[in-house]
Amino acid sequence: MNAYDNALRQLETAAKIMNLNEETLARLSSPEKINMASLPVRMDDGTLKIFQAYRVQYNSARGPYKGGIRFHPQVNLDEVKALSFWMAIKCSVVGIPMGGGKGGVIVDPKSLSIKELERLSRAWIRAFRPVIGPEKDIPAPDVYTTPQIMAWMADEFSQLEGKPSLGVVTGKPVEFGGSLGRGTSTAQGGFYVLQAAVKQLGLASQGLKVAIQGFGNAGAVMAGLLFEAGYKVVAVADSSSAIYDVNGLDIPELMQYKASTKSVKNFKGSKEISTEELFALELDVLIPAALENQITENNAENIKAKILLELANGPTTPEADDILFKNKVVLIPDVLANAGGVTVSYFEWLQNLSNNYWSEEEVDKELRDRMMPAWSAVWETGQKYQVNLRSAAFVTALERIDKASRARS
Ligand code: GLU
Repeated sequence: MNAYDNALRQLETAAKIMNLNEETLARLSSPEKINMASLPVRMDDGTLKIFQAYRVQYNSARGPYKGGIRFHPQVNLDEVKALSFWMAIKCSVVGIPMGGGKGGVIVDPKSLSIKELERLSRAWIRAFRPVIGPEKDIPAPDVYTTPQIMAWMADEFSQLEGKPSLGVVTGKPVEFGGSLGRGTSTAQGGFYVLQAAVKQLGLASQGLKVAIQGFGNAGAVMAGLLFEAGYKVVAVADSSSAIYDVNGLDIPELMQYKASTKSVKNFKGSKEISTEELFALELDVLIPAALENQITENNAENIKAKILLELANGPTTPEADDILFKNKVVLIPDVLANAGGVTVSYFEWLQNLSNNYWSEEEVDKELRDRMMPAWSAVWETGQKYQVNLRSAAFVTALERIDKASRARS
């Protein structure tokens, strides 16, 4: 299961449905540019370690490359290629005038000290400085990269340029060029889309049962929003445990618990279950919010949820997509469901470039105004071609990328 093979299959499926122009398809079948570097980083004990790093610049038809940087032991070139391609689709789905890029470092950031993490983050910028910049390619956080890491990166780039250059990365702390609402935007955008889907499908607005796999930035914030809105979050999983409570978990308490114990394991009143059991629960909504390739041909048949909202990137394989569609599970794809993150990143970049900062209300309103039309466009495309919402999102995005590509060629 290679994420990039999956991404190319998704592209081919959508290209067939819409009869995509062959030249555009050829352009999108490989990245425009692959950048790789070995990052030498001095460890606290005086030894030198070398980390493999990437920046893939997939497609720039609609504007500068945009997309996060992942620090994770399982990062590999094919994964970064897939993620950068999905960024190009994602920006297009929500109508952001940017292309797709993604970066990564093969590292377990939990094994580094804070100073080592800072040196690694600054080394990443020094290595890729020639190919990034506010008008060229704008990185952001992804799995295990934080606002603090973005602050070090923006600082390193600014020092090298000899001037403040805050628009070089997004997802920065609010005190240093970040946007209000960026930290919660991935979940907030997903929440708006989910509410629209619930309405579209005529489901009850209260007490819907939800399970979330992943309790990081996206998953935990989403759990909080759902809890507040009257959903019953019956199960959550983080990287060390999955927990279940038939009566619904108290999410604010669980967040405090996780902050102090670093895991959701043994939370009061909950029972430990396996990830596979979590996927197979009697649910209204299932939310994968962790990594790729979680829902596959081996477990898709077990899913009983009515809606599957992909807050993670690439959690579902093409084989699983077909099974879910056959079983009438409405899958809201990553390129729409988690596009709130890059949308507010774009707002952050606009604020940096104009040096004019927005209120939380403005950010939220603008986010909603991007997510709702994107949802409608994808839903209508799905109806028009009678295809699943992933293909519908791809078709919607590809039409725009195709127009830009052809206008330029
Ligand atoms: N890493 C996030 C994503 O996959 C955000 C990217 C961004 O803000 O540029 O969408």
